[in-house]
Amino acid sequence: MSHDPALLQSIANSTGTPFWLYEASVIRQRIAAIKAITSGEGVQARFAMKACPATKVLQEMAAAGIWIDAVSGNEILRARHAGHAAGQTPPVICFTSDVFRDNALDVVLEHGVLPNIGSPGMIAQLAAAGYRGKISLRVNPGFGHGHVNSCDTGGPSSKHGIWFTDVPAAQTAAEAAGMQVSMLHAHIGSGPQFDELLENLNRLVNEFAELAKSLPHLEAVSLGGGIPHNYRDPSATLPLEKLGALFSSARQTLSQAAGRPLRLEIEPGRYYVAPACTLVTRVTDVKQTQTNEKGAGATFAMVDAGFVDLVRPAMYGSWHGIEIVGRPADAPTEPIVVAGPLCESGDVFTRDDAELLQPRALPRPVAGDLLTLRDAGAYGYAMSSNYNSVGRAPQIWLEPDGSLLQISRRETLADILKAETEAPLSL
Ligand SMILES: *Cc1c(COP(=O)(O)O)cnc(C)c1O
Repeated sequence: MSHDPALLQSIANSTGTPFWLYEASVIRQRIAAIKAITSGEGVQARFAMKACPATKVLQEMAAAGIWIDAVSGNEILRARHAGHAAGQTPPVICFTSDVFRDNALDVVLEHGVLPNIGSPGMIAQLAAAGYRGKISLRVNPGFGHGHVNSCDTGGPSSKHGIWFTDVPAAQTAAEAAGMQVSMLHAHIGSGPQFDELLENLNRLVNEFAELAKSLPHLEAVSLGGGIPHNYRDPSATLPLEKLGALFSSARQTLSQAAGRPLRLEIEPGRYYVAPACTLVTRVTDVKQTQTNEKGAGATFAMVDAGFVDLVRPAMYGSWHGIEIVGRPADAPTEPIVVAGPLCESGDVFTRDDAELLQPRALPRPVAGDLLTLRDAGAYGYAMSSNYNSVGRAPQIWLEPDGSLLQISRRETLADILKAETEAPLSL
């Protein structure tokens, strides 16, 4: 939905630009939508927190009884900090990774978190660290879909998970090391196609039903995340009830195969948060290049946000809705390229994944206008960086009653320099 221009102006005057504006009501609607399709007996939803790990968002999830999928030691600690329970009864936090990096193994052990391992060698690493007990196996089911090739989540070219025919060997290794396979997991996603998600999930359920027959300690199956968000038409509704029906029947199929009731889990990330946040930036200038033998000229709207804030367009050619704040919906438009401040030619919000400019039909802005990049809640702030040392923009939280909270401030030079030292390294 569009924001009140006066509100955006007031926040911009107070915090400066760019800034991120979260709407609590939208996150709550999305949580309710997921609850509606997982509230059946034995179906549990998690939040893949890497999509948007702000404490405030994690607290919303905790309050709604949504569990957490964490992918690093620090994500586990952030979930704990926001109030999510440690331990495995029940396993509120699950750690999913193909690699134990930094503190991950220590934090898993210390907080008693269920490890969901994506590489067979991690069994030996857990054993060497003294771990005994339940583990989950992240499986590469041999098929999958990524929205671009570098995001393949399953199949021969995917780095994720234990190849499905290696599950029996992993089970043997786990049991020899005093561990029980209590969960099977796969995250295969869908790209933007909802029907493809249903198809993939059905195929996955059948594959997991076969594996479940020979896993005596199996308690749960996770079908991963990947519920798409329609960036081009955010008001479009998905037939989520089809997913709900799939979950109930999947749980039955899997429980029958196992010979006992199993818990079914899902762990969407983007679906909860994508439409809940807008990146608000200011147009600083509008300039023109002229057509020559090397290419077509374009009109550039220069803005103060760049891919250090929202990297998805630069990284995958992702499409985000763009509005010039305060312009009527029927204002005349022309092709405009929206570009940021970074010393990098790819710092363009209107482009595709082949690095070609894709001018957007927009009302011609003037310097000083606010410009919004919509549906920036998933993999937005979460993927922001300190490239060019500009510091991350502040995050603002809007409650339905109109009250505002600043949930993170603009980063300063001191923040950027904080980890720098000149300490002698003694070996
Ligand atoms: C990223 C991720 C998800 C969430 O994916 P979305 O497309 O945001 O729903 C779920 N599970 C795992 C293991 C992930 O890595």
